[in-house]
Amino acid sequence: MSADALLAHLENVKRTGDGRWIARCPAHEDRRASLAVRELGDGRVLAHCFAGCSINEVLGAVGLEMSALFPEKISVDGKPERRPFPAADVLRAVSFETLIVSLAASQLAKGEPLLGDDLERLKLAASRLHAAAGAFE
Ligand SMILES: [Zn+2]
Repeated sequence: MSADALLAHLENVKRTGDGRWIARCPAHEDRRASLAVRELGDGRVLAHCFAGCSINEVLGAVGLEMSALFPEKISVDGKPERRPFPAADVLRAVSFETLIVSLAASQLAKGEPLLGDDLERLKLAASRLHAAAGAFE
């Protein structure tokens, strides 16, 4: 993929150069355009929030997976081939989703119900953790 898949989810996107953009960060209440996006020559996409959001938070806010930042290679038989995840990225994603699950668990432990968005986010976390486990099979 290219940076377009990420940029399509962002607001106030401005192109600042060749393969470079800035946009409002989707992971925090961003009044300035704090998110810098770069597309590298090999097709990888980098995103950095100057307010300090992690890449997991940025991707989570727009519903993209870490794999969205890596190019799909075209293999010899013409089918797109997914690059395997770097293990470190999977671990970072897992630790973020685990944090969400543990926040939900502590809320439930206090006797507070999970409602609406919180419940949906917990379900998303569960499905991502499931998918991450599958990445190594
Ligand atoms: Zn941010």
